[in-house]
Amino acid sequence: MTAHAPRAPARHPFLDGKLKRMLIDGKWLEAASGKTFQSINPATGEVLADVAEGDAEDIDRAVEAARRAFEGPWSKVKPFERQAILLKFADLVDQHADELTELDTLDMGAPLSRTRNMRRRAVGLLRYYAGMATALHGETIENSLPGDVFSYTLKEPVGVVGAIIPWNAPLTSSLWKIGPALATGCTVILKPAEEAPLTPLLLGQLALEAGVPPGVLNVVPGYGETAGAALAKHMGVDKVAFTGSHFTGQKIVQASSFNLKRVSLELGGKSPDIVFADADLESAVPGAAMAVFANSGQICSAGTRLFVERKIYDEFTARVAEFSKTLRVGNGIDPDVMIGPLVSQEQLDRVTGYMSIGRQEGANPLSGGERMTDGDMAKGYFVPPTVFANVRDDMRIAQEEIFGPVISAIPFTDIDEVLGRANNTMFGLGSGVWTRDVNKAHRLARGIRAGSVWVNCYQAMDPAVPFGGYKMSGYGRESGIQHLEEYLNVKAVWIKTG
Ligand code: ADP
Repeated sequence: MTAHAPRAPARHPFLDGKLKRMLIDGKWLEAASGKTFQSINPATGEVLADVAEGDAEDIDRAVEAARRAFEGPWSKVKPFERQAILLKFADLVDQHADELTELDTLDMGAPLSRTRNMRRRAVGLLRYYAGMATALHGETIENSLPGDVFSYTLKEPVGVVGAIIPWNAPLTSSLWKIGPALATGCTVILKPAEEAPLTPLLLGQLALEAGVPPGVLNVVPGYGETAGAALAKHMGVDKVAFTGSHFTGQKIVQASSFNLKRVSLELGGKSPDIVFADADLESAVPGAAMAVFANSGQICSAGTRLFVERKIYDEFTARVAEFSKTLRVGNGIDPDVMIGPLVSQEQLDRVTGYMSIGRQEGANPLSGGERMTDGDMAKGYFVPPTVFANVRDDMRIAQEEIFGPVISAIPFTDIDEVLGRANNTMFGLGSGVWTRDVNKAHRLARGIRAGSVWVNCYQAMDPAVPFGGYKMSGYGRESGIQHLEEYLNVKAVWIKTG
C-alpha cells in the first residue's frame, strides 16, 4: 500500500488522526529517529493511523526503563498489589472490549463475529494471571546432608522480558505475554507486529490507567528486522517470549545467544485433523471447516491437513466444501461476515501462491482457490475458504504452512497408517480427532506428537490449560502453571543451623 492510500473515516475513538506514539517509561514518545509507518485496514486498503516506528535506539530506551522499574519500584510491589493491578486492568479491558475488539478488526481484518468473542478470553487471561500472582511459591526440600542443613527454593522473576508478537490476534497475544510477566513481577517491552500495532498501544493506555507503574509495560511498535531484532539480541533483556513463524523463531534463538537469555517460542504448524467414519459428521463437518477457516486460516494451530477415512472421503470433503460456500466473506466490520481479508498484500501473495502450487501439484479445488476481487473486494486482500481434494502427503500444500483458509484433504485407511502420516511433519502444535470410539481417541491422544490434541472439537483454549509446541512448533508453554514457570528463576537456598 502506498503513502497515498485513502484515509479511513474517523469512526473509532482511538483513530483520531493523531500520530500513535510508543509507550516508554510511562510516557508517550515519538521514535528517536522521528520515523513513522502506516497501519492499513486490510479490508479496504485505507490508512488507519501513522505510528511511531521504533528502532534499536528506542528499544535501548525501553530496556533501560524496564530495568530501572524491575530493580526499583516494581520489585517492592507485593503479589497482592500486582494482583489488584491485574484485576483492575482486566476490568478496564472488559469495559473497553468493544473498542479493543473493533480495533483488532480494523487493523488486521478478523471479522467482528470473531474478535467480539475474544472479550471473554482477553479478560479471562488477565483474571487468571491475577489469581496466579498470589499463588506462586518455592518449596522446602528435605536433603540428606549430615547435620542440620535446611534447604528451600525461591521463585524469582526472570527480569526484563522482550515480548514479540504476531498480527493474527493482537489483543489476546498481547495479554498472553503481559499477564504472566506482570503476575510474576517481571517488566516487559512489547513489540507488536508492524501489520497490527494499534490494539497493543490502546492496551498500553489502559494498563497505565489500571496503575501499572511507569517502565513496567513498554510498547514499542516497529519492524521485525530492526526493533524486533534489537530486542532479541539485547544484552539487557533476560528473556524473549516470541510468537510467530519458525523462520523468525530460528533468528530469535541465534540472536538470544549473545547473552544466552531465556527464550520461549510459539511457532507455526501444519496440524493434522483426523476424521473417522464413525464420527458424528453433523459436528465434524463444520468443526473441521472452522478448524481452518476461522481467522481466514491465520492461526498457527489450524487443522490444515485434513485426514479423512477413505470410505467417507468423497462425501465428507464435498460436505466441507459445501459448508465453506455458506461462509460469508467480506469486510469484517459487518457483523454478518464470517471470513475477513488476509492481513496484507504479502500474505495474499503467499496464500494465492500456494493455491497455484496446489493446482500444479494435481490437487483438486472443491471450493475457492482464487483471490476474490468483486466490487470493493478488489481494494482488500480477500480469498475464499478453499478445500483441496486429492492431496498427497508429499505435496507442498500438505507439508508447508500456508497461513490462509486452505484445507488439504487427504484420505487414509486405518489408524496405524494415519498416526504415522499425521506425525510425518516437522511441526507439532495442534491436532484433531473426530470419532465416537473412545479407544481410537485415547490411542491418538497418546500417539500424536503435538502440544494439543482436540477430540470432537478444535481450538478449545483456556487460560488454565497449557498450550505450545513439539518439534519445530517451538518450546515453552503458554497458559497454565507451566506458563508462569517460564517467567521465573528458581533459586536454591541452603542454611546450616546449629
Ligand atoms: P509472520 O510471518 O506471521 O508475520 P513473523 O515471524 O515474521 O511472522 O513475525 C512475528 C513477529 O516477529 C512480528 O512482530 C515481527 O515484527 C517480528 N520479527 C520479524 N523478524 C524478526 C527478527 N529478525 N527478529 C525479531 N523479531 C522479528
